[in-house]
Amino acid sequence: MKFEELDFSPQIKDSIKKMGYENATDVQVDTIPAMVKGNNVIVKSHTGSGKTAAFGIPISDNILNGKSRSALVLCPTRELAVQVKDELRKINSRSGIHVTVFYGGHGMNQEVREIRDGIDILCATPGRLLDHIRNKNLDPRQFDTVVLDEADRMLDMGFIQDLKQILEHVKPKHTHLFSATLDGSVAKLISEYIPTYEEILMKEEIVGKNIFERHIKVPKELKITALEDIITEAHDGRVLVFVSTKRTADFLSRKLYQAGHKVESIHGDKSQRAREFALRNFKTGKVSILVATDVAARGLQIDNVEFVVNYDLANDADTHKHRIGRTGRMGDTGHAISFVGEDGNHIGPRQFFGGGGRGGGARGFSGGRDSGRGGTRGFSRGPPRGGDRRGSFGGRDSRPSRGARGNFGKPRGNRSQRRD
Ligand code: AMP
Repeated sequence: MKFEELDFSPQIKDSIKKMGYENATDVQVDTIPAMVKGNNVIVKSHTGSGKTAAFGIPISDNILNGKSRSALVLCPTRELAVQVKDELRKINSRSGIHVTVFYGGHGMNQEVREIRDGIDILCATPGRLLDHIRNKNLDPRQFDTVVLDEADRMLDMGFIQDLKQILEHVKPKHTHLFSATLDGSVAKLISEYIPTYEEILMKEEIVGKNIFERHIKVPKELKITALEDIITEAHDGRVLVFVSTKRTADFLSRKLYQAGHKVESIHGDKSQRAREFALRNFKTGKVSILVATDVAARGLQIDNVEFVVNYDLANDADTHKHRIGRTGRMGDTGHAISFVGEDGNHIGPRQFFGGGGRGGGARGFSGGRDSGRGGTRGFSRGPPRGGDRRGSFGGRDSRPSRGARGNFGKPRGNRSQRRD
């Protein structure tokens, strides 16, 4: 559906056109009218589905039309908060709506000045927002709309008490929640704080449809060599390497740097400035390799990554899915390569690979220990299987289930109708 056909302000439509967006993604087609109508929405969607504009357009439109005074968007990480702020500023380039971002790790004075100047939309991490509320720097009641972005991630990171406190201080008229999963603690949060809502479920397995996934059996001591082979294969394409610890991130980036590669690393121990600097260098192509812990896995808008390498496997299938979602975005074919144990056993939950996996299970690295260094050069290459090219804005999971609900039991029934 074209944005022209959706009902929202011409100023915002102008900005959307300037951003180069013509057709609304599935999540946008469903979410924008629901939020403009004044419904709360619970949206199950993944990064890369266009969810930021899906909530960004209607919260902006509602402010522009006087239906809302100001909105708060809570994000799990500083990086995501900045990224959301950037997108919302673009959406509001012609509306006069002021979008700002608050996050921890630096002084509060500048943010206090911004509060005094007035805020229409605030993107914030929960901890920093609570600091401002506790210090009475801002009136939480000014926000009548709250968006919980990547709610599952915020809960995974232990923000449950912070979120509860914020929602109790703010008492928003409208609360919207976006999450890759709607189970467990997310379901509890919804039942406690969002009494009525429209649920919009997007197809779960969009990630992976256009990703050529390979699993390389590689002994621990040859992992760096195997990684260098992939870097060579990628030419100048960007390679995002996931590792499990901050130490490995530092170690690996140092090794790659010493080997003459242009590399940055990003993890939780780095200062905010250093993380932003590394991410900017990767995004602008100054360096083509970014070594990251999972802090970078979700929410970050790093598009056109040709290769995602799971140097260390993720701890769970969900994290794995989010990691590899950095490649194969916006209809491009991507490559995701996971290093598995030298004995050929998959490390981590088997369901990652679904008995053979999307890319065909562990294969390619035939050399193993016996082949020595040269063995790492055996990983398979080739085109995606089955002409699997598909836009990442693939199909809808089910039509949104309309209507208010007070009970979270029901939507789950609805989800069971998935056409996966
Ligand atoms: P998100 O899921 O919000 O992180 O968006 C993923 C990427 O899709 C970002 O680079 C957006 O700028 C881009 N995007 C969002 N909506 C559209 C659209 N309707 N058309 C083209 N690109 C879009």
